[in-house]
Amino acid sequence: MPRPAGSLRPEVERLRPGLWSIPVPLPTAGLTHVFMYLFETDHGAYVIDSGWDTDEAFAAVERGLAAAGYAVTDLRGIIPTHMHPDHYGLAGRLREASGAWIGLHPADAAVLRVEPLHPADLLRTLNEAMLRAGAPPEAMREVTAQHLPRDPLPGFARPDILIEDGDRLDIPGWDLRAVWTPGHSPGHLCFWEPVNRLLLSGDHVLPRITPNIPFGGEAGDDPLGDYLRSLDKVDALSATATLPAHEYRFDGLSERVEQLRRHHEQRFAEVRAALAGGPATGWEVASQMRWSRPWDEIEGFVRRSAVSEALAHLRALERRGVVHERPGEPPTWWLTASAGG
Ligand SMILES: [Zn+2]
Ligand SMILES: [Zn+2]
Repeated sequence: MPRPAGSLRPEVERLRPGLWSIPVPLPTAGLTHVFMYLFETDHGAYVIDSGWDTDEAFAAVERGLAAAGYAVTDLRGIIPTHMHPDHYGLAGRLREASGAWIGLHPADAAVLRVEPLHPADLLRTLNEAMLRAGAPPEAMREVTAQHLPRDPLPGFARPDILIEDGDRLDIPGWDLRAVWTPGHSPGHLCFWEPVNRLLLSGDHVLPRITPNIPFGGEAGDDPLGDYLRSLDKVDALSATATLPAHEYRFDGLSERVEQLRRHHEQRFAEVRAALAGGPATGWEVASQMRWSRPWDEIEGFVRRSAVSEALAHLRALERRGVVHERPGEPPTWWLTASAGG
C-alpha cells in the first residue's frame, strides 16, 4: 500500500489483476481527486464512482480507461457509492457516451435531485435551517450567497438499477457485494470484494478526513447514529486493504474505525459540556464546540456545516436519552435529568 502522496499527483494504477485506480480531478477547493475503481471483464469495464461533471474529469476517465485497454464506449456499468456530485456527477455523461447502466442505493435515488436547482432556492433552504437552529439574524447576513454559483445547478441523471444491501453486483467474473452504510448520505454504499478482502469504502471511511454527516431533511432522523452503526458493519468484515474514494489507500481498517468512533465520542462530550450550564440552541452548542479555528473566525459557509454537525450529535444523544429538544422559536436542547443536567 502506498504512503500518503502529499502534493504528488496520483497516477492511474493497476492494483490487482483486473482492478485499476483512476484518479479523477475535482474542481473544488480541498479534496483534489476522487478515485474511480475500474473492474475489467471480457464484456467491458465496470466502475465504482464517476467524478464531478467537468470536461477535465471526463478526459481523466478516458485516459484511465485507455490505460486499462478500454474506450469510454466499453463501459458497461457505473456504480457511484453515493449521490454526491464528486461521485455521481459524471455518471450521466458517461452513460450517454457508452450506454452503461447506472446503479445506486434506493435511499440515495429517493433524494437525488434530477431537476435543475437555482442557487437562490438552495440558499433559502439553507438559511431556513440555520434560523431553526437559532442563528442570530446578524449572523445570517454574513451567511449569505458567498461560495454559491450563479448559474442553476443541473439535475442528476436517474439511476437505471437500484442496489440494495447485500446485493451482488452484476459484474461478470467478479464477486462484489454492496454493503449499505448510511450516514454520510442516506444511501451510501461500500463494496466488499471477498477474494482479495478489499473494502471499497467511498466516503464512509477515509484515512484522514472525518466524513461530514449532514443533518436535516433528507438525511434521515438520526444520520450520525446510522453512521456509527455503519462503521460497525464494515469493521466486522476484517478487510486487508481499504480503497477509499479520496486521499489514499490504507491497511488497518479497524484502527481507523476506532479513531472515528473516538472522534465522535469526543464530540459528544463537547456537546454535553456545552449544555452543562443550561439549555442552548443548536447554534449556541456549535459555537462552544472545538473547531479548527475560533468560532468567530469561521466563515459563514463553514458555520453551516458546523451547526449541522452539532445538530447531528444532539440528535444522536437524544436517541441515547442524554438530551432532549424542547419546541420553541427556536427549539432548545436540554440535558435530561438522568444525564446529570
Ligand atoms: Zn460524499
Ligand atoms: Zn466524496
